[in-house]
Amino acid sequence: MKADLRSMTPEELQKEMESIGEAKFRAKQIFRWLHVKYAENFEEMTDLSENLRNKLNDNYIIGGVKIVRKLVSKEDNTTKYLFELENNYIIESVFMQYSYGNTVCISTQAGCRMGCSFCASTLDGVEKSLTPAEMLAQIYAIEKDKGEKVSGVVLMGSGEPLDNYENVLKFIKLINCKDGKNMGQRHITLSTCGLIDKMYELADEQLQITLAVSLHAPNDEIRNRIMPISRAYPMEKLLEACRHYAEKTKRRITFEYALIKGVNDSAENARELASRLKGLLCHVNLIPVNDVKERNYVRSTNESIKKFEEILVSRNIETTVRRKLGSDIDAACGQLRKRYKDEQI
Ligand code: SAH
Repeated sequence: MKADLRSMTPEELQKEMESIGEAKFRAKQIFRWLHVKYAENFEEMTDLSENLRNKLNDNYIIGGVKIVRKLVSKEDNTTKYLFELENNYIIESVFMQYSYGNTVCISTQAGCRMGCSFCASTLDGVEKSLTPAEMLAQIYAIEKDKGEKVSGVVLMGSGEPLDNYENVLKFIKLINCKDGKNMGQRHITLSTCGLIDKMYELADEQLQITLAVSLHAPNDEIRNRIMPISRAYPMEKLLEACRHYAEKTKRRITFEYALIKGVNDSAENARELASRLKGLLCHVNLIPVNDVKERNYVRSTNESIKKFEEILVSRNIETTVRRKLGSDIDAACGQLRKRYKDEQI
């Protein structure tokens, strides 16, 4: 298999060029083509000799994604992209506009194997873990298509980022590269359903990214019912890992909590949650659960959402309710799924 130049760090690219008898500075030129000018093929790299371009073309690939379709929300300009990867895998990404800048929600795997009962991404299991280039290319393709800069990224599309740990870590390093997109780590949010071993590893990396943890329940009994991963990693151990992460990185953890009517949204649930999170450097993001047609979960009423929020706030837990973007195009949290190229959406 040909190596992918877009998944290489500047150092790796330099070594690679040296190994084929090219000067070091070529690596810098190529890195720029790949991560600043978003070249999709070697032909575009006009400051390289034709000879070198041919040589690169014979020996390497440029990992990327192809836009298959896009849907623009009438409500808020949120745009969902359907991308195709090599070998016909299909993923989705979402472009969102906020007052503070444009953010893209990217997928880290085609499908997901975590099995959360409220999420559409996991309905058919996992098919492929994305390469760093395939994650970067989602952002690059969207910037190109929109003609606008993207200043933030959330790893909240399909897939469990920590189930694709090495590639995700490399993606973060690459997008953060000063010679490339140069996105600040503080503009990157990684969301996990709570793979504890990997959370400890991530803490050692001492990154400045925001870690979001999908909690969705105040105790194991409820969490076990809606998130299978919870049986492998009990909540007490998960919160211990979060505490460790926050202490080590000095970064506040975001807890995601999808409010589902009659499942996890009572006043008692809120009180229990507050007591379990007491003293932890954290913030709770409440997400009224979004529709997934295969599931019959119902969104909590506005009244119980408000009550839940008030209980947390009154116990000094910083809390926000996530604004719903793009639900008319099935682009909201938990609605990204494997789709077929010819499927009507
Ligand atoms: N695998 C990662 C990334 C998914 S991020 C994780 O589990 O964190 C998407 C966020 O949306 C997660 O918090 C996820 O639990 C949440 N989510 C999934 N389905 C949802 C739904 N139907 N309504 C609201 N939020 C949902």
